[in-house]
Amino acid sequence: MRIGVVGAGIVGLAVARRACERFPDATVTVLDKEPEIALHQTGRNSGVLHAGIYYAPGSLKARLCRRGVELLRAYCAQREIPIVDCGKLVVALDDRELGRLRELERRATANGVPGVRWLEAAELREIEPNAAGIAALHSPTSAITDYRAIARAFAGDVRAAGGSIVLGARVTAIHRDTLAARVESTGPAFEFDRLILCAGLQSDRVARLAGDTLEPRIVPFRGEYYRLSSERESLVRGLLYPVPDPAYPFLGVHFTTRVGGGVDVGPNAVIALAREGYRRRDVRLRDVAETLGSRGVRTLARRHWRMALHELRGSLLRRAFAAEARRYVPAIADDDLLAAPAGVRAQALDPDGSLVDDFRIHRLGPVTAVRNAPSPGATSSMAIAEQIVEQALGV
Ligand SMILES: Cc1cc2nc3c(=O)[nH]c(=O)nc-3n(C[C@H](O)[C@H](O)[C@H](O)COP(=O)(O)OP(=O)(O)OC[C@H]3O[C@@H](n4cnc5c(N)ncnc54)[C@H](O)[C@@H]3O)c2cc1C
Repeated sequence: MRIGVVGAGIVGLAVARRACERFPDATVTVLDKEPEIALHQTGRNSGVLHAGIYYAPGSLKARLCRRGVELLRAYCAQREIPIVDCGKLVVALDDRELGRLRELERRATANGVPGVRWLEAAELREIEPNAAGIAALHSPTSAITDYRAIARAFAGDVRAAGGSIVLGARVTAIHRDTLAARVESTGPAFEFDRLILCAGLQSDRVARLAGDTLEPRIVPFRGEYYRLSSERESLVRGLLYPVPDPAYPFLGVHFTTRVGGGVDVGPNAVIALAREGYRRRDVRLRDVAETLGSRGVRTLARRHWRMALHELRGSLLRRAFAAEARRYVPAIADDDLLAAPAGVRAQALDPDGSLVDDFRIHRLGPVTAVRNAPSPGATSSMAIAEQIVEQALGV
């Protein structure tokens, strides 16, 4: 069997690795348009191994995140890739947030997240002495890791199993019939019996090449980070998060310790003017035109304009970003925040303007298209791969 994968991010590489493992006689080929693997979301995220607190019980996110944590922990132990169990606090600042925090506690229990405990104010400050808040959920198994290193290890496994990773090959056309898919790229052309599309920020466009619907479209959300100055990083010990707004899929500005050292604050969520543009000044007219031309985006903007303005203000003014951070760690001063590299999230949007909450995977004959794999996509990558290889490849 000839298996092709488009996208050498963590999802595509996990799929390719799993395919090599399950079909040792198959030829597995991964194509990516970039000169290196993991250049987009996989190499520009918060590095958190999510424990599965947030997700609606029974959803793909809930199931694949829990399974993904198990698989990644075993894999990283075997490969000596560091996972640091720094634990997470989700903090309620006032009485209005307590109901939502209780709902998170219920979800965490339903999802089987181990060790989650409700903490009162004094207990939360034993864990994070500099945090504000009147109560918190503590998840001791939430952890941090290096997803770029994991992606590199997956790529090594694919090559060691005889698979190939073809870089600098942008897929430009996909011709599909009932049995096979022919792929044209800026590099060589290929014929595959099974093709899996894991194109992240380009997933709607690449799926469309294979005859899938354009919807759900990808809306790119820039996530900007600041880094606490080294003298101030002792203000935060682990992961410190706000109670998320259920109407909004992102988790709010939070504090993330990094495996290599340092504490990041962010990311915010501002609609990006270029899908793969990491500087604020990056603008790509095709991306802007598609975003503005989408009825779903206009509906989304009407619904969430207040939140959008709030995020934009935080994006433009370090002072506003610091004020947001100070709600959780009052000792932070504006000057404690240093600019850090940004990421862009691929978030799918349904035509009615609702952000697709769960992972979404489409099947089109020999082609499987991953249409929405936002956070906790990196945490869940090995479980997403397991599901695709077991189900879509007909094992
Ligand atoms: C700011 C931010 C913070 C996040 N934090 C976390 C976190 O803490 N924990 C967590 O679990 N998840 C987190 N995520 C989500 C996580 O990073 C993603 O779910 C995951 O990386 C998705 O991997 P992917 O392989 O689908 O996409 P990507 O890593 O984006 O890879 C897609 C690949 O497809 C390639 N491609 C696209 N079009 C083509 C084409 N036409 N031809 C060939 N190749 C193509 C691209 O070059 C790219 O390499 C975060 C994401 C962001 C952006």
